[in-house]
Amino acid sequence: MITTHNLGFPRIGAQRELKFALESYWKGQSSASDLHAQGHTLRQRHWALQADLDWLPVGDFSFYDQVLDMSQTLGNLPARALHGHGTELDAYFRVARGRSAPDHQAQACCTAHAVAAGEMTKWFDTNYHYIVPEFDTHTRFALHADRLVSQLQEALAQGHAAKPVLIGPVTYLALGKSKDGTSKLSLLPQLLNVYAELIEVLVQHGATWIQMDEPILVTELDADWKHAFQTAYHQLKPCRAKLLLTTYFGPLQDNLHLAATLPVAGLHLDAITGREDVPALLNLLPSHKVLSLGVINGRNIWKTDLNATLDWLAPIHDRLGDRLWLAPSCALLHVPVDLSSEQHLPTDVQRWLAFGAQKLAELRTLAQALNHGRESVHAALQANTSDVQSRRVSPRVHQPEVKEAVAKIHADMGQRQHPYAVRARLQAERLRLPPYPTTTIGSFPQTTEIRQARRAYKSGELDATRYQIAMQAEIARSVAEQEALDLDVLVHGEAERNDMVEYFGEQLEGYAFSQFGWVQSYGSRCVKPPILFGDICRPAPMTVAWTRFAQSLTQRPMKGMLTGPVTMLNWSFVRDDQPRSETCLQLALAIREEVLDLERAGVSIIQIDEAALREGLPLRRTQWATYLTWAIEAFRITANGVRDDTQIHTHMCYSEFNDIMDAIAAMDADVITIETSRSDMELLDAFEHFAYPNEIGPGVYDIHSPNIPSQDQIVDLMRKAQSRIPAERLWVNPDCGLKTRQWQEVIPALQNMVAAAKRLREESAAAVTHRR
Ligand code: GLN
Ligand code: ZN
Repeated sequence: MITTHNLGFPRIGAQRELKFALESYWKGQSSASDLHAQGHTLRQRHWALQADLDWLPVGDFSFYDQVLDMSQTLGNLPARALHGHGTELDAYFRVARGRSAPDHQAQACCTAHAVAAGEMTKWFDTNYHYIVPEFDTHTRFALHADRLVSQLQEALAQGHAAKPVLIGPVTYLALGKSKDGTSKLSLLPQLLNVYAELIEVLVQHGATWIQMDEPILVTELDADWKHAFQTAYHQLKPCRAKLLLTTYFGPLQDNLHLAATLPVAGLHLDAITGREDVPALLNLLPSHKVLSLGVINGRNIWKTDLNATLDWLAPIHDRLGDRLWLAPSCALLHVPVDLSSEQHLPTDVQRWLAFGAQKLAELRTLAQALNHGRESVHAALQANTSDVQSRRVSPRVHQPEVKEAVAKIHADMGQRQHPYAVRARLQAERLRLPPYPTTTIGSFPQTTEIRQARRAYKSGELDATRYQIAMQAEIARSVAEQEALDLDVLVHGEAERNDMVEYFGEQLEGYAFSQFGWVQSYGSRCVKPPILFGDICRPAPMTVAWTRFAQSLTQRPMKGMLTGPVTMLNWSFVRDDQPRSETCLQLALAIREEVLDLERAGVSIIQIDEAALREGLPLRRTQWATYLTWAIEAFRITANGVRDDTQIHTHMCYSEFNDIMDAIAAMDADVITIETSRSDMELLDAFEHFAYPNEIGPGVYDIHSPNIPSQDQIVDLMRKAQSRIPAERLWVNPDCGLKTRQWQEVIPALQNMVAAAKRLREESAAAVTHRR
């Protein structure tokens, strides 16, 4: 019989219950025991949904992030977070977000105990962010197994076949950051002792199989890291648990031999992205080992073609028999919980989709068909075939005019009229900005009133005119606040946007929207990726009226604010029936029209956010060039049709630039604003090294933390920036948009930011009144 299992389940809850519980705890409105109770409820509910699998995951639940959980389990929370009030949970939240819940015993505690939050970065090529483990010479690991043990006991007590999930030791080290140059691999021996101890404790509490996630096996590893795998798994070999070495997000390629031969009881392979590895694996895998194949896409929401999958699996099953396990390709963290709660998707689109719960049902059908013959699941297979087929031929998906427009794209469309130096002069004349111009990244706080108005509008309680009036009032408020703050380049504040991708997707053809398709982005923050199912076109302007209204309220330049094609693509659930590059060009043409409409409306600065450009990079470097070529081309097609005196900005968050500097420069944006504050301006090294020619706004205010940066801190960061980038090409701005923050945080932070810019202007003797 085939064994079915799951690698991880979305923890946020079908109705984002965890989000609300966390945020209420952080505000001091509920207690730690309320939060724990919500965690318990969610785990119980999610395990129940997975109860008929042969193994379900335990330890995939997290109050913030599974990597941070691992750090906590290994006794590796940064020391700065350990002092302060509260329990270990509070220390955990201090690492996650700079502070925990308010301490009711000590009123002043909140700010006194604010610490620098841990750095956050993308989890492989997903839109999930993890908290980067920190290492230095003082790092000493020590086991804190309580959380995991109690969840294991909880699952066992509920009668489940529980398989604890750990991030494997090598991936854990690889994902972390050495703060003082200490070699990460030098920490491996002591780390392994703690893993061995942990495994033993889990075995004592009833674990038999343990899932060891080692996704770095799908990336290029140098000899030292390959060797670390040998060391690690040979040292863990005597442990009493059966280890399932788990890889996902890509093929193993040159690590295949290594992965197949490590002394573990089983290997999981992502058979969606790594299918090419399977023939070689079948030959290499020792005959005692289990091979788990991830045959349901854990990264996307399309129905699996079950018959095609069965055709492929049948001979593998014949060969492996009971040694074949089936699972989703990766943890279901990256897909929404349940399609059956959706009421408003177009019916044909709905039948093309599978969310978490439906994916588990597909898994059961596959196992049943292999175990008992396809006849035993005849009806399910037939329904699946007709759904899959209806998508292939749907006229909703295929629009010939769109395909023709893409075929007609030529390189000139991506070329500005003159090089940056010429444009910069014309733009300076038009814009008349001071040195160190200040701006923000686009959004201002999405207040309760804004969200209520949007909800009322969507449900029909508020008509379009009243909604428009409400949003215009918000725009007016944010313009007034920005003028009071004396910012130089204003934004309208994005009040009318719930999400930077969804907002545009809703106005484009080819997109559909779920009501509850939430996916965790970081901590309590979730996104609802739009579903890009068909050819894309823009029936009408999307932002022009709002921007024009905002500009009418002020003499200062108002930035037009758009989301770029690569980010639209990377933050959507994208159709899998044509190359992503093709879909991206369709998006580029649609947004290009918007750029040109904004320019025609008199907008002098247009920002095109490409927050997600970097995360689309393939995990293996050998494939980067291909991706960057089409992604940058798509951006250029979008942005570069404008006049010389129209200033194009782009914004990127959480990006490291060292290795993609050529591509960033090739975008040829006049100004790029980037995330830098948590990494202390280190990111700018790349720009300095490359001698990046255009203007840069390094983020000086970490908007992912409630902490308010002081004027001195900002000046300090800008000085660091100045040591790398000529002052006349620097802008002063936050890290990212301010939508998740509160006005009472944003105002003092921006006051400090503007004051810091003014101080820099005064101090810089060389400052000229007009830029260049
Ligand atoms: N303009 C967007 C905002 O300010 C950018 C968000 C982002 O980069 N993630 O919210
Ligand atoms: Zn950003």
